[in-house]
Amino acid sequence: NDYGIKRLRYPNRTTMAPLDTSSLSIVRDPNKCILCGLCVRVCKEKQGIGVWDFKNRGSRTDIVAAMDQPLSESACINCGQCIAVCPTGALTSNSSSIQEIWAAIRDPKKTVVCQIAPAPRAALGEEFGLGSVDVTKKVVTALRKIGFDKVFDTVFTADMTTIEESNEFLSRLVKGENLPLFTSCCPGWVKYAEEFHPELLSNLSSCRSPQQMFGAVLKKKYAKELGIAPQDMFVVSVMPCTAKKYEAKRPEFTTEGAYDVDAVLTTVEAARMIKEAGIIFNTLEESEFDQPMQQATGSGVLFGTTGGVMESVIRYVAGKLLNAEGRVDVEFTRGMEDTKIASINVGDNKLNLAVVNGLSATEALIQKIQSGELDVQAVEVMACPGGCVGGGGQPFQNDNEHR
Ligand code: SF4
Repeated sequence: NDYGIKRLRYPNRTTMAPLDTSSLSIVRDPNKCILCGLCVRVCKEKQGIGVWDFKNRGSRTDIVAAMDQPLSESACINCGQCIAVCPTGALTSNSSSIQEIWAAIRDPKKTVVCQIAPAPRAALGEEFGLGSVDVTKKVVTALRKIGFDKVFDTVFTADMTTIEESNEFLSRLVKGENLPLFTSCCPGWVKYAEEFHPELLSNLSSCRSPQQMFGAVLKKKYAKELGIAPQDMFVVSVMPCTAKKYEAKRPEFTTEGAYDVDAVLTTVEAARMIKEAGIIFNTLEESEFDQPMQQATGSGVLFGTTGGVMESVIRYVAGKLLNAEGRVDVEFTRGMEDTKIASINVGDNKLNLAVVNGLSATEALIQKIQSGELDVQAVEVMACPGGCVGGGGQPFQNDNEHR
């Protein structure tokens, strides 16, 4: 009355909507949502998940009653591309693992071990203002200073994935079954296949992703070598990926009742922990990964971008088929186009191959394969644009400073 206001056209809300923490990968704060629709758009256009529009994805439950689906019950594949475009911070990665990791570091009974994938290393340089330089050795020092007992390079098990997947591909080629082989190291793609293409599951490679291979090596082998129970080892991975949080909690990835990977940090969360620990990153000395899993090839580093898995596998397959004599040209795997298709000759064998990133492009490729328009023997799929370097856990894409 003092101000002469006659009518409140937009009354303020008096209640706060609860956070949706149902997803292992993504937290949604409906109070910050401005219904801009960018998350729905990226999910439909890039990831091809267009069946529900806003409805049943969740969101402002106070505004539209139909949007009451918890994220964990929606068709979300946990890739986190919605986080990368949300302008208000209504969608963020589920960072609950940070507290678990601090608790494990403080627990004298736990041996806390960290593995770090290729993609976060360059991104951490950018996060700390050093530009696109290789800061791998500084990152190793920072992780040790945080309190990790051992720091390993996921490239070690990327090499193992290459060997396993190549042998599986060769075996399927000989038998002529379950072709084309689809790669299985991207958990966003694996979940998409489970939800939308169960008929393709026998075509997926049976290999674990490098993250899960490392978890298994650490819990099943390395813990024994150290003389500790798998339950007393706490394995953390630093990944560019929010879907890896979901992958780590899949029930098949356990040893004696303990998860092979206990907690996953995105690149952004790893940077946050380094800052929380008061570490001045730019002044750190450099140091090496721990032995005995320090040895790795340059091939495993390629896993960070689209085409890298295919390039590694075909190089290895060619080495086997040609008995290490001669070279194959795998140039087609490089570059950021969403779909790359090529036929290459490896000795007397002609291999038809495809590399695809983004699930919209993947869906189009699957339609061509299933209609008979395209005949390929192996397909690399990465859910995120450009592969893992464009993962939902990477810093500051699209100048979004709210992540
Ligand atoms: Fe994760 Fe890489 Fe797959 Fe994206 S492309 S969901 S970052 S594994």
